[in-house]
Amino acid sequence: MSSGRGEAERLLAIGEKLLQSRDLSGSRDFAILAQEAEPLLEGSDQILAIADVLLAAEKPVDGAAEHLDWYAILQVERTCEDQDLIRRNYRRLGLLLHPDKNPFTLADQAFKLVSDAWAVLSDPAQKTAYDRAISGPATFWTACPYCYFLYQYPAACLGCCLRCHNCHRSFHGLSIPSLPPLVPDQDAYYCNWGCFPMGFVFHNLPPDGPALHLRPTPNAPQNGLSSLPRKAL
Ligand SMILES: [Zn+2]
Repeated sequence: MSSGRGEAERLLAIGEKLLQSRDLSGSRDFAILAQEAEPLLEGSDQILAIADVLLAAEKPVDGAAEHLDWYAILQVERTCEDQDLIRRNYRRLGLLLHPDKNPFTLADQAFKLVSDAWAVLSDPAQKTAYDRAISGPATFWTACPYCYFLYQYPAACLGCCLRCHNCHRSFHGLSIPSLPPLVPDQDAYYCNWGCFPMGFVFHNLPPDGPALHLRPTPNAPQNGLSSLPRKAL
């Protein structure tokens, strides 16, 4: 496009209007168009930075929706360990977004998000705690609804169609909230769930289950239970 400065200013004005009505994607699109029309036009990178940061803040972390995605806000990969890169992005975004320098609406919000992201990701203790909080459980427990065998699967299998090793029927891999308490010194669980009126047996998947395409993670938490089925009381 060679429409020049006038066209770029027109596009940027639309981008600014859209930002005011919090149409972040639209605002972003027009800021990019303005940048393409006139790369040196002042303001397009500032609008782009606001839109990018606020869009990143709108999208929750996969599997940990209660957390803001500090990595996406600072435009680095999830669980990035490169402190230099994190610092560079923080400085660049901070300069673009500082409310004293950035005259556009929502710059203060975006600046605060970037500052908060930096506070977490630049502090080793906070970063470690955050990484742990967003990583989610590595495995989940599910039960065959036909024969009540229990299985432990890697988290990636959640919601998948699974095949029971005991009764060979297919079932939907839903996570059960928690295992019933293990009876002390006995090879069995207390069974006190209303939804398991007949009791159930416990069974760990063999590593190469023929009926399953999905295998348990090799590093699944060891809970001291053997791979043999266990009868509930
Ligand atoms: Zn079954």
